[in-house]
Amino acid sequence: MQQPKTRFAPSPTGLLHVGNAYSALICQAWSKSKRAGLLLRIEDIDFTRCRSEFTEAIFQDLDWLGLKWPEPVRIQSEHFDDYRRAIEHLRELGVIYPCFCTRKSIEAEIQRIGLAPHAEEATAIYPGICRNLDVDEQSQRMLSNPFAWRLDIEKAMTLMARPLQWHDESGAAHPANIDHDVVIGRKDISFSYHLSVVVDDALQNISHIIRGQDLEASTGIHRLLQNLLDLPEPTYIHHGLLETLNGERLAKRNCSTTLRSLKELGVKPEKLKQFLLDVENPVWPFAPDDHDQIIRQLA
Ligand code: GLU
Repeated sequence: MQQPKTRFAPSPTGLLHVGNAYSALICQAWSKSKRAGLLLRIEDIDFTRCRSEFTEAIFQDLDWLGLKWPEPVRIQSEHFDDYRRAIEHLRELGVIYPCFCTRKSIEAEIQRIGLAPHAEEATAIYPGICRNLDVDEQSQRMLSNPFAWRLDIEKAMTLMARPLQWHDESGAAHPANIDHDVVIGRKDISFSYHLSVVVDDALQNISHIIRGQDLEASTGIHRLLQNLLDLPEPTYIHHGLLETLNGERLAKRNCSTTLRSLKELGVKPEKLKQFLLDVENPVWPFAPDDHDQIIRQLA
C-alpha cells in the first residue's frame, strides 16, 4: 500500500495568519500520527492577488512554526500547461462551455427572471445564459471576446456511473451537491482553483485532503472533476475553523494576527502549537494589538 500523504496548500495573497497556522498544524499533527507524508504546495495562479514576496514569507513563517516539507515545493504558477491540458480533456468530453457573461450581465439576468431579490446575491448562482449557445455563435464570439469556461453540471452528471459523493476518514459517504455551472476556467488564465487543485492532488498522490470547513462546499466540484478526468478519489477531512471570541473566522481580510507579528513579539512556536492544538475547538482570544496578553501567554 502507498504511504498516506497530505498537503498544506496556502495561497500567497498576504502574510500567513493564525488561522492558517492552525490549519498547517492540523496537517502536521495528522501526518505525524499516521506516519504520513506532508507536502507544501504554493497555490499562486491568481496573479492579480498573489505575490512572490508572500511565497518567500510562507517558507520562512512555516519554518519558524516547525513545519518540515520535502523539496522541491510545487508552485502552481510554474505548471500552467498541466492545467490547460485538463481543460482540453474536459472540452473533448463536451462538458464545458465558453461563457462570455460579465458580472453585470449575470446580475441583470438574475433580476429579470426573479431568481434573487437582491443584486448582491446575484452571480452566486449562474442562470445558464451561455449554456446553450449554438456552436457557430460560440466560435464567432470566442475569436473576439474574453470568455471563461463553465462546467455544464447537468451534462457532466449524466456521465457519472454512481451518485457523486466524498468520503471522510471514517469511510462515511457524504453527498456532493453542486448547485450551478461553476467557472473552472477564468477569463485571464483559462483555468481556475478548482481545476488546478484536483490536477495537483492527483499528480502529487495526495491520499488525504485536510482543509478548513470553509472549503467543504468546493469538495463536490472537486469530486466531479476527479471523475471526469479519471483521477483517484482522496479522503477528505474538513476541520473546524479557528475563530475570534465573537465567533468570527480569522481571515486575511479581517486583519487577523499574522505569524510574522507573533514571531516579532517573541512568541514561542511550541507554545503557540500547544495553545492551538490542546483543545478540540480552540478560540483565538487576542486582538492583533493585544501585545501584552499575547506575550504573557505565548512568549
Ligand atoms: N489554496 C487554498 C487556500 O489558501 C487551499 C486549497 C485547498 O486546501 O484545497 O485557501
